[in-house]
Amino acid sequence: MKKLLYTFALTLTAFLIIYSCSAEEDNTPPPSIIQTPEPETPATTQYTLEVTSGEGGTVSTEGGTYDEGTQITITATPAEGYEFVGWEGSNSNSNSLTVTLNGNTSVQAIFLPETFLENRESIELCKIDRFHGGIGFGFPKYLYSLPSTGNLKFTIIFVDFDDSPATATIDEMKQLIEPISKSFYSSSSYGKLNVQFDAINKWMRMTKNSGEYNMRRDVSSGEFHYNYLSEALNLADLEYDFSNSDLFVVITNPDTENIDYGPAYIGNDYWNFQADGKTFYTSTSSGYDLNIWGGLWLNHEVGHLMGLPDLYNYSGLPTWHGYAGQFSLMGLISGKAPDLFGYEKWMLGWLDDAQIFCAQNGTSIVDIHPIESTDTGTKIVVLPISDNKSLVIESRKSILVDENLTEEGILIYQVDSSIRSGEGCLEVLPSNRRNEGKIDLLLKEGDILSINGYSIEVLLQSDLFDRISIVKE
Ligand SMILES: [Zn+2]
Repeated sequence: MKKLLYTFALTLTAFLIIYSCSAEEDNTPPPSIIQTPEPETPATTQYTLEVTSGEGGTVSTEGGTYDEGTQITITATPAEGYEFVGWEGSNSNSNSLTVTLNGNTSVQAIFLPETFLENRESIELCKIDRFHGGIGFGFPKYLYSLPSTGNLKFTIIFVDFDDSPATATIDEMKQLIEPISKSFYSSSSYGKLNVQFDAINKWMRMTKNSGEYNMRRDVSSGEFHYNYLSEALNLADLEYDFSNSDLFVVITNPDTENIDYGPAYIGNDYWNFQADGKTFYTSTSSGYDLNIWGGLWLNHEVGHLMGLPDLYNYSGLPTWHGYAGQFSLMGLISGKAPDLFGYEKWMLGWLDDAQIFCAQNGTSIVDIHPIESTDTGTKIVVLPISDNKSLVIESRKSILVDENLTEEGILIYQVDSSIRSGEGCLEVLPSNRRNEGKIDLLLKEGDILSINGYSIEVLLQSDLFDRISIVKE
């Protein structure tokens, strides 16, 4: 067909040339030529606006060519069964968008099926059940956990020993712990947990030598720890009123090598502590390793008391930090990004259900706000895999608690309530247990990760939020 058309066009041209030649041979005067003036160059620059609409709706204009600075208002209208979610090419989420043309511009209205709405409403399906007794991932939190929101009063008891008398002053010890622990809570909890520290301002001398408490990592047990904490509480109770206290924390003289670590104690109806009419189900004491960890040690242990599991690998094989890398102080306390994972914050009540996007079906496009930003926007996207396992997506940036983070981007991890504390109950994806950094796994704009039947793409990165799409394959 194309060939035929060419042939016809050639024939026509040839005919016209012949006609023109024969006309020139006549002596009739040439027809007067009407000259069309050249169009004047416009005084103002013009730009084009291209407006398109994704599946599921229409836009009020297709755009066109306009003078520089022209303002055009575009309205996006969803079709039945769809909702408008935003514009490709603009940060606005309003369905009425006013564009000021200062360059060639193209915008596309994005609509999503109502499964998007259903996903947002299916939050309970994204809460995995807690599986084991004791601390671990899942809802609800362990029965005997310390509350994690509201106003809590932590009473600090300082203890030393005849064979290991304290050399640091109480003020030095308070400076080591309080400021950093306190600012972590106010920042990481978005002000939802307010901890007041109340210290007993003296070193209390324990009755036995430090080694007699069996508080070394390799020999200690829950019972030894219970006895140690009980003695410290009973000494302090002689001169302190615990009736308004929510937790007692024992700070061991940090020179004491016989007490090399500072574990968490989580009791029950039979194993708990009593003072001034108050029952304490949980407590913690520090050890020699406080010298390594500093004040965030307390936030790690209190994280356990509030129900959070350990994220490092108890076996150390092939590495200690191959699950969570540098993220969350429930893994490596001295990591570059010690702020908790969004899922941990959700369990603690620091994130509301309204800040979780539960993406179950179809396609979702979600603007997720950095985990540390104080706004109330969506902070994590949860993708259910099974009753006990979910994928989680969040945005990490180098602000506040995570200020030492060297890269920014989208982090994807899985939480599994059937895996115990210290055995990989949270793992940053893609899995590589020899990688103890994980910062290189932060996804950037344009990156796609396909995992567990979901395809996750980073559409846009900005200071305020990152826009991602999730497609259930
Ligand atoms: Zn721990």
